Formats: sequence, structure tokens, C-alpha cells
Amino acid sequence: MSETYQPRSGVDDEGIEADVGLDRENVFPVTPYLGIDMVEELWLCRKCGEELGDATESYKRGLLVNERDPDEVHRPLIGEEYKYTYAPDSDWCRLIEYYCPSCATQVETEYLPPGHPPANDIQPDIDWLREHHMEDDE
Ligand SMILES: [Zn+2]
Repeated sequence: MSETYQPRSGVDDEGIEADVGLDRENVFPVTPYLGIDMVEELWLCRKCGEELGDATESYKRGLLVNERDPDEVHRPLIGEEYKYTYAPDSDWCRLIEYYCPSCATQVETEYLPPGHPPANDIQPDIDWLREHHMEDDE
């Protein structure tokens, strides 16, 4: 680890656990575990600083993926005779988990139909973000 990583804990003013480790001036926090290096335009893991790829593309391209049967996570609450009680039908749904390839932090999860490509759910306008991010530095 370099000296730019300063482990921190706690919550921000809004009660959100937003600072999980990486503390660099040029990194814009996007989620608790994802940030964008505004100079290099790269997705970063905010836990360990691993570069996850081009920020103009989906951050999921740089993460490890694990597909799980939702039955492993959501057990029927009433009983086996009511198979779908609070449990998605595994013929129609998969739980997709995304992990940082360096520190194994679970960065994201999503529910998708089997065979569906990962959703590109966060695609910031880098120029707009830089303009507003740089305003804070002045
Ligand atoms: Zn990481």
C-alpha cells in the first residue's frame, strides 16, 4: 500500500458510510466502493485503489463476476410447499455478484434473467463531472 491510502471509517454528514479507505484528491466517489480517477479517467476500487478500467465504459468490465442461484440466498420463508415465497424463480432469475479483483470486496450485486448481459447501470458524464468536481477545488 502506498501512503496515499488512509484507512478511514465512520459515516458522513448524511449517515452514509462513504469513505472506505481510498483518499485521493483526484478521485471522485461514485459509490461507497467505486470511484473515478478524474485525471486518468479510470474506475477505481475505493477500498484498495485497484484500477478497474476505462471510466467511459461499464465499471463491471474490470470486476470479477460470480453467478449464483437465488435459491442459495433467498430461502422460502413459509415452507418448501410455497417454493416462491420471497424467493425468485431460479429458472428466470440469477443473482450476479461483482468483486474487486485485488481486495475481493463485493462492489455490486444485481438480479438478471439467465444469459442476460450485465446492466450498465452507472455511466457518468466525465466532462460534466470533472467540471463540477474541479469547482470544489477552487
Ligand atoms: Zn479493491
